[in-house]
Amino acid sequence: MNKRVLITGAAGFLGSHLCDKFIKEGYEVIAMDNLITGDLKNIAHLFKNEFFEFHHHDITKFVHVPGKVDYILHFASPASPIDYLKIPIQTLKVGSLGTHNLLGLAKEKNARILIASTSEVYGDPLVHPQTEEYYGNVNTIGPRGVYDEAKRFQESITMAYHRFHGIETRIARIFNTYGPRMRLNDGRVIPAFIGQALRGEDLTVFGDGLQTRSFCYVDDQIRGLYNLLLSDYSLPVNIGNPNEITILDFAKEVIKLTGTTQKIVFEPLPKDDPLQRQPDISKAKEILNWEPEVSRAEGMKLTYNYFKNLSKEDLQKSEH
Ligand code: NAD
Ligand code: UDP
Repeated sequence: MNKRVLITGAAGFLGSHLCDKFIKEGYEVIAMDNLITGDLKNIAHLFKNEFFEFHHHDITKFVHVPGKVDYILHFASPASPIDYLKIPIQTLKVGSLGTHNLLGLAKEKNARILIASTSEVYGDPLVHPQTEEYYGNVNTIGPRGVYDEAKRFQESITMAYHRFHGIETRIARIFNTYGPRMRLNDGRVIPAFIGQALRGEDLTVFGDGLQTRSFCYVDDQIRGLYNLLLSDYSLPVNIGNPNEITILDFAKEVIKLTGTTQKIVFEPLPKDDPLQRQPDISKAKEILNWEPEVSRAEGMKLTYNYFKNLSKEDLQKSEH
């Protein structure tokens, strides 16, 4: 009998790629999502697959899944700053109540659970690059606090279930990941810049653009998450690409890639926007035998092609 895996946030960007990966690896996939930021289009190609089922459900409400469950991948949560600023309470609830429900399910089913944590647990980091030992620098009451603190609580309750109930847990601290199926209007920098280039708008760099990020292509991320789930390591692991770049230089790369004749315009830096971010991935290398393989040039080309092929209607829907 196939192993059964429950994936929450399955209609979102990472969740949908996880569905593909687990179907490909021969699992039965139970996908769950309330579609608050996700889109069924991302998983529509799986609906005919006999090993795939979709449950439209808000996981902050009691989660019931008939039959056995071997693994749970908990990815439900708004993930883009403009999403979690628009729906702050739901963001806090999905990270807290939602995670509690899924840990309860993991306990009931004797399932191993992997939770999607984030580099945001490090806040605006004072340690660079960020190692898993760093406790972080988060403004609890700032606008981003709703996401960062929900994720920090998520890690705490996961470790409590691990220590107190002995359930098997995995914690992935995911750093900025990009690729096909991101929403063009989700406000994250890659869809924002590509969307602007495609619509013939100027590229909006926030602040002076000297803040840094390190972008990981989705295929690398999914491989890292898969290895982590199947590992026997229960402490948090950073999964991301350490190749760091300033947002200003990144905007210039997007201009070159897309051939747009538009210029860069500067807009105010959002409050508490981290000034630097780069994962230390020594642990992932050692424990998961994993490191990223897709360069930013390759990954961005694939991502640009995806967005270029969207319909004109999808392109105009963007808020930027
Ligand atoms: P996404 O917005 O594309 O996907 C999130 C999915 O969760 C959506 O389909 C949404 O509808 C669903 N969802 C939200 N609240 C729900 C609820 N209460 N019940 C059921 N479903 C719900 O975002 P993503 O980029 O795919 O991120 C997925 C996960 O990975 C999130 O937990 C996010 O915090 C984490 N993460 C992502 C990144 C990244 O760079 N993409 C970085 C760090 C962490
Ligand atoms: N950013 C930007 N212009 C945009 C969108 C984002 O300059 O149109 C910046 C943003 O201020 C941040 C970086 O790009 O410094 C990455 O933002 P994103 O929302 O993608 O991810 P996060 O801040 O969560 O890392």
